[in-house]
Amino acid sequence: MEHKNLDYWKRAALAFQFEGRSLIDGELAPIDEVRAFVDRSPVDGRTLAVVGECSELEVNAAVSAARRSFSAGVWSGLNPRARKAVLLRWAALIRANLDELALLETLDSGKPIRDTLSVDVPGAAYCIEWFAEAIDKVGGEIVPADNHLVGMVLREAVGVVAAVVPWNFPLLMAAWKLAPALAAGNSVVLKPSEKSPLTAIRVAALAIEAGLPPGVLNVVTGSGDTGHLLATHDDVDCIAFTGSTNVGRSILRCAAESNLKRVWLELGGKSPNIVLADCPDLARAAKAAAAAIFYNMGEMCTAGSRLLVQNSIKDEFIAALLAEARAYEPGDPLDPATSMGAIIDETQLDRVERYIEQGKREARLLTGGTRERESTGGLYLSPTIFDVSDPSCTIAREEIFGPVLSVLGFDTLDEAIELANGTEYGLAAAVWTSDLTTAHEASRRLRAGTVWVNCYDEGGDMNFPFGGYKQSGNGRDKSLHALEKYTELKSVLVRLR
Ligand code: NAD
Repeated sequence: MEHKNLDYWKRAALAFQFEGRSLIDGELAPIDEVRAFVDRSPVDGRTLAVVGECSELEVNAAVSAARRSFSAGVWSGLNPRARKAVLLRWAALIRANLDELALLETLDSGKPIRDTLSVDVPGAAYCIEWFAEAIDKVGGEIVPADNHLVGMVLREAVGVVAAVVPWNFPLLMAAWKLAPALAAGNSVVLKPSEKSPLTAIRVAALAIEAGLPPGVLNVVTGSGDTGHLLATHDDVDCIAFTGSTNVGRSILRCAAESNLKRVWLELGGKSPNIVLADCPDLARAAKAAAAAIFYNMGEMCTAGSRLLVQNSIKDEFIAALLAEARAYEPGDPLDPATSMGAIIDETQLDRVERYIEQGKREARLLTGGTRERESTGGLYLSPTIFDVSDPSCTIAREEIFGPVLSVLGFDTLDEAIELANGTEYGLAAAVWTSDLTTAHEASRRLRAGTVWVNCYDEGGDMNFPFGGYKQSGNGRDKSLHALEKYTELKSVLVRLR
């Protein structure tokens, strides 16, 4: 078997055929050259594909195809076992095309190939398998009612679902929406990010190969304007969004001003990672704290971007953290040894650099803050850590979405919880302690959708609901609870006499 080293992936990248056309009603749609845009790789700046910017015409066609397929019952009307069989075939095709999809994701988003091979692509297949396996085991209820009645509560697909997703985990975030929505019998229009649209187009083609009827899954490419068309569309029943808090707010407004479609939002975060002096393993905590902010270039909604360390161990902990950060020096994303890849695009890199400049004015730079590997034509940043004394400063409050960590000190647990909760976000939090009571009490007091104790970012299992408190969003991806987003409850009362 050929050894899959950097040369192997470079050769594979050169041979790759990229597809930038949308997929509507089972067909690849022609690209309007005037409105098309060029999709470049953050790995080295090369042009990957010309991608269509879908206008009202294409969005209407996709929504109509979804509506037609939904109303015809070609998918929604199937026995859940039949939907399960197609979804399992789809997941198997994704697994069978692991190398191709991982390479595509790496080239399009700059993520290290070792992560796309081990997390993004298998994670998407697993998510589809999980909801496929679940869907023929969940049903409605027969509920207590008057003796002359039979009372049923049915769970029905909501209809046409729009899924609008970001660029940091393009395939995985799409799978988190598509799997429960399709399993429940909906028809879907997916809009991937304009910064990383290619894997969405490819997996949608694989879904059709697996037997998904045309029109049940459509992909419309384009910028925020295309997403806006979906958010305002009167024939979209539900929109599931992952992205920034500001766009989430605009989608809510669009729903209010159009047909009151259901809106589900997975938004930003500024997650606190609290290390108490009685932390059971400081070395492991330092390694996890580095991974919490530098994994995926810090382009993580759950990034542990605020590290709160008890003052009595702060110096010792920072020394261990700086050593761990060295493992994240950026490298070629196609090299299987690389753990930190490229920043998604110039706009995002500029944004992160502006925060770094701001950080230099308001805090003490401990390491990083520089552009790297510029001769490659790609977009790279060194892992960056600031020692922050004022928790109200910009870099400690705003989501940066890059490899930039703020370290803050505290004296008491009460102070740590107050700092941790002192944010508009509430996506995730972590606490490191040896004390069982402290662990439980802190978990209760932290206002976040996920709390990790003595770990960070654990839990690849689909069993855990994922989502935010406060301005980190509403509703939950993953777990059986995700099905609640894509179904309506219907009470049926049958009078017997
Ligand atoms: P973004 O909000 O800019 O874009 C997300 C998607 O929305 C893209 O497909 C984009 O084209 C589209 N969009 C942009 N403007 C729109 C509009 N007006 N109407 C409809 N759609 C529009 O976010 P991003 O930069 O792609 O991703 C980064 C953000 O996503 C961060 O804030 C991050 O925290 C968040 N995120 C959250 C989660 C989570 O699960 N909570 C996961 C990943 C990323």
